[in-house]
Amino acid sequence: MAEDNRSGSTPFFPWRSKIVFKFMIISLPFLILISLALFIIAPYWYQHHSLRDLEDKAQSIGQIASYNLAPAVIFEDSQNIREILLSLSQSPEIEYIIVYDTQGKEISRFSRSETVTINPEDIRQTGYTTNKKTWNLYTEIKHQDRVIGYLAIGFSLNEVYAQINHIRQIIGLASVLMFGFGLWLIYFLSSLITRPLRQMTETVKEIARGDLSRRAEVPTSDEVGLLATSFNTMVDQLQQTLANLQEARENLEKKVEERTAELKQQIEEKEAIAQKLKESEELFRSMVESLGEGVVIVDPEENFIFANQAARRIFNDYEGKLIGRNLKEFTTPDQYEIIRKQTLRRKQGFRDVYDLEITLDDGTRKTLIVNAAPQFDRDGNFASALAVMIDITERKREERALAEAKLELEKAIAELQKRNEEAAVLIELGDAFHLARSEKEIVDIALSYARRLFPEESGLLYLRQAKENFLQVGGVWNLDGPREDIINLDDCWALRKSAPYFIISPEKDLVCPHFKTNWPISFPTACLPLNSFGETLGLLVVFCCQKKPYVKQEAYLEQEIKVKKQLLITFAQRVAMALANIRLRESLKEQSIRDSLTSLYNRRYLEETLERELRRARRAGKPVSVIMLDIDHFKKFNDSYGHEAGDFILQTIARTLERAVRAEDIVCRYGGEEFTVILPGLPLDKAVSRAELILDSVRHLEVNYGKTVIHNITISAGVSAYPDHADQWTELIQLADTALFKAKNEGRNRVIVAEKQSF
Ligand code: GH3
Ligand code: MG
Ligand code: MG
Repeated sequence: MAEDNRSGSTPFFPWRSKIVFKFMIISLPFLILISLALFIIAPYWYQHHSLRDLEDKAQSIGQIASYNLAPAVIFEDSQNIREILLSLSQSPEIEYIIVYDTQGKEISRFSRSETVTINPEDIRQTGYTTNKKTWNLYTEIKHQDRVIGYLAIGFSLNEVYAQINHIRQIIGLASVLMFGFGLWLIYFLSSLITRPLRQMTETVKEIARGDLSRRAEVPTSDEVGLLATSFNTMVDQLQQTLANLQEARENLEKKVEERTAELKQQIEEKEAIAQKLKESEELFRSMVESLGEGVVIVDPEENFIFANQAARRIFNDYEGKLIGRNLKEFTTPDQYEIIRKQTLRRKQGFRDVYDLEITLDDGTRKTLIVNAAPQFDRDGNFASALAVMIDITERKREERALAEAKLELEKAIAELQKRNEEAAVLIELGDAFHLARSEKEIVDIALSYARRLFPEESGLLYLRQAKENFLQVGGVWNLDGPREDIINLDDCWALRKSAPYFIISPEKDLVCPHFKTNWPISFPTACLPLNSFGETLGLLVVFCCQKKPYVKQEAYLEQEIKVKKQLLITFAQRVAMALANIRLRESLKEQSIRDSLTSLYNRRYLEETLERELRRARRAGKPVSVIMLDIDHFKKFNDSYGHEAGDFILQTIARTLERAVRAEDIVCRYGGEEFTVILPGLPLDKAVSRAELILDSVRHLEVNYGKTVIHNITISAGVSAYPDHADQWTELIQLADTALFKAKNEGRNRVIVAEKQSF
């Protein structure tokens, strides 16, 4: 109900909803204002005018009284004054009359009642008395323009006030009547104005009830009249529209009826088709059931909704519990990822053939080849995926085994090829070593082939000289880092064991002390001793896989070094053999040209060298000198100290001779206690000086042999030179020897220069 009131259809407060009342409420303040104004202003106006009249009357009574009283006052005739006062008091409104002489002294008084109290202050002025009940006139009494006394007359205001009250009552009544009349008038006029609107409201109600034939009849041509006309036009259009709607509805009903009949027929046809479909589905189902391949249907969430016998066999489902289970239950996360991607492709309408690995409840793993196709419903939404599955576990296993075997074979072939290549390189290495003429060449070849055979490794080649107890680095390959240049024989486990030593894991294995600068070594390392007949010739240190710093797995490195172990050992053996060979060759060569006792060059070497030096000197145009030396009375030493002491003296003199000549000079043992010195490039005079120097060195020799000190050793020398004496080596030797003979003859311990030949 409250809702209705608010909506305005049935007004709850009539003065709010009816326009008439609205007009009345609006005009109410104005009516009240007008009534109040009338009620207040009219008595006020009346009072004002009554007082003016009273004043006028008082003035004229005052004048009359003054005029009448003047003679009586002059003659101080109180009787007369009293009479005049009594006659004046005939006017009912006069309350009192008091006469004063010029000094202000009261002469006579008239007072209407005893109760009248006269305030002496009010008497001396004209106007209202203090209590507002009397109006006082104070005027002079004159005689011939001379003031002879004063007169005070009090006029009662009671009559005036009574009149005003009366007037106020009348006006109050009139105001109420006017207010009521005003309200009625407004009501009447408003009703008159809103009548057409009410008529229209009635019409609208009628139309709302369904009587579309009704029209608003407003004869006026004002705004309401126009509204009514527009409204009537709208109703006309509405009537027309309703008629159209009615017609459309009838048409629709007709069509619905026709369509219903049509649909009924279609349903009948479809039922017939469905029956046929059911029959063919049965046929299809039995066909699918009897298929050898697994056939499954899964919904978009990969739940099984159908599986034929073969499929159930694949999934080991002998109790028919596969339906409703999810493919996720049979797959590892990575395999399920394949399924998820495949489902996405199905949704996009693709069909695919792919391999899938399933894990059954008992843990068995099977590999399937899946041929999946999507199925969509009538609205084109992806409904399910139909998949044909073939168990290819066995085939896969065979394939894998075959692939593994193939891989092994390829690896073996590659290994063989590598071995072949390595063998070829090793043969090449042997040839290269064979052609080498010095130890340096052997080292160069070894390093060069190490680079080829071990490109991923780096290494050091240490060499041991003679019987030294340390090894010195002879060369490196692929090594940029720090290194130990000299290592002691005791600092390497391989050298101590005289066998290869491999450090696979630097953390676990014992590391050789010589890895001081490389410590901690971070790669598998091999120490390969270079031995020959139990003698250490050198050491090969190889850092494995240093060129593959990213490969750090221990297992891999272990494998790598295992593969390379044999090659490393073979390589080290070849290098050791080559070193031993070259050293043997060099020692043999030394032995053939050196004298075993003194280690000086022998006579054969002397002859070869002298001939070569002379050829060179001839080409260069330079001199060559020869000094022949023979120890004086050597037999005597042998006899005195023994043959061994004699040998020792020979060795000592050999070292003395070597020290007394230049590095390029060649000292030889000519035989017995005879020596020859070849001085290439040295002229005769300088050779003589050099011979003198040698003699002097020998002269001052003190040979400590055991507890014996042997001194007073002297030697004689004969000097010849090219081109001074001869240009053939034989002649030069012979001439020097002749000079030596002469030195012997002339007393020994001296130098004799060969005599010049007379050609
Ligand atoms: P001269 O001053 O005339 O040369 O007197 P000499 O004694 O040195 O000469 P001689 O030819 O008579 O003697 C040479 C001696 O040198 C004889 C030989 O025993 C000795 N002699 C030669 N070869 C060796 C050797 O290899 N060892 C030792 N201990 N003695 C040797
Ligand atoms: Mg001698
Ligand atoms: Mg001799």
